[in-house]
Amino acid sequence: MSEILYSLAGKRVWIAGHKGMVGSAIVRRLRSEGCEILTTDRKDVDLRSQAQVEAWMTSLRPQAVFLAAAKVGGILANDQFPADFLYDNLMMEANIIHGAYKAGVEKLLFLGSSCIYPKFANQPIVEEALLTGMLEPTNEWYAIAKIAGIKLCQAYRRQHGADFISAMPTNLYGPGDNFDLNSSHVVPALIRKAHEAKMSAEPTITVWGTGNPRREFLHVDDCADACVHLMKVYSDDSHINVGSGDDVTILELTKLICDVVGFPGEFVHDLSKPDGTPRKLMSAAKLRSFNWKPSISLHEGIADAYRAFLGGEYAMRAYG
Ligand code: GDP
Repeated sequence: MSEILYSLAGKRVWIAGHKGMVGSAIVRRLRSEGCEILTTDRKDVDLRSQAQVEAWMTSLRPQAVFLAAAKVGGILANDQFPADFLYDNLMMEANIIHGAYKAGVEKLLFLGSSCIYPKFANQPIVEEALLTGMLEPTNEWYAIAKIAGIKLCQAYRRQHGADFISAMPTNLYGPGDNFDLNSSHVVPALIRKAHEAKMSAEPTITVWGTGNPRREFLHVDDCADACVHLMKVYSDDSHINVGSGDDVTILELTKLICDVVGFPGEFVHDLSKPDGTPRKLMSAAKLRSFNWKPSISLHEGIADAYRAFLGGEYAMRAYG
C-alpha cells in the first residue's frame, strides 16, 4: 500500500464540473469516503468568471478540490471551436486554481488529458515527454489549455507551497458521456451508430478515418477511483498519467462495440474525417508504482456504457 498523505474523511470537498462525465463519476466514488460533497451549478457560478468563483470559494470554504470542469469534445468539435476550447478551459483553470490558493484549499487535483503530449512522442508516453515536440493540430487548443493547468499547479506549489497535483487521464468513456455525433468522442459515437443501425436494420455504419489509429481507453469509474487514490497518496509537482496501459486500433474498438451492441453489419470508412494522432498510449508505470490499476476491462466497460446509453444517458448535449 502507498502511504496515505491526505485523508478525505470529514473534509469539505468541491467537485468542480460535477455534471460532466468525470465529475459525476468522482461524486459517485466519493460517497464512500465520508466527506462532505460540495457542487456548484452553472446557473449560480460561471466558472469562467473570476469574481463569481472567488466569491463562492470564500463563502463555501472547500478544503479539497477536484478540478474536473472543462469544455471537452471529440476530434471534430476541437477543430471547429478553437476559441471556446482555449478560452473556456484557461479561464476555468486559472480561476479555480488561483481561487483555491486564496481560499486556503489544502489539496487540489487538476484533471488534464493525454492530448497534452507531442503528436510523435515515443510510446508508451512517459510523463517526461511533455513539451518535447509539436502537438497534434486537431486538438492543440484544448492541449495548450491543459498544459497551462499543469503549469499553474506547479507554479502555485513552487511559489506558495500549495499541495496542487495534476492527473492526465487517457480517453475516457462510460455513463454520462456525450452521444452527440458531431461533438462526441469515438466510443459514444460508435455505440450510438451501431445501436441505431441495429434498430433500423441498416447494413453498415460509418467509421471516421482509416480505423488504423491506436487509442487507449479507460472507464470513467476507474478514472474516478484513480483520482481519489491520487488525492490521498500523491503529492508532487510532476503530473501523473491515468490510463489502462493498453491500446487498441479504432477498427478493433469498432468490432468490440458492434459485438457488445449486437450489430452484425459492416463498416465503411469516411476518409474525409481526420485520423488525428496515429497512436496515443500513455505509460502507466508511474501510477502502478503508487499501487493503482484499473479493474474494468474494455469489454465490461463498453457493455456498461451501452447500458447507460440505453438507460437514457442519450442526452443530446453540445459538449460534455
Ligand atoms: P482523439 O483521441 O482526440 O483523436 O478523439 P476521438 O475520440 O474523437 O477520435 C479517436 C479516433 O477515432 C480518431 O482516429 C477518429 O477519426 C476515430 N473515429 C472513428 N469513428 C469516429 C466517430 O464516429 N466519432 C469520433 N469522434 N471519432 C471517430
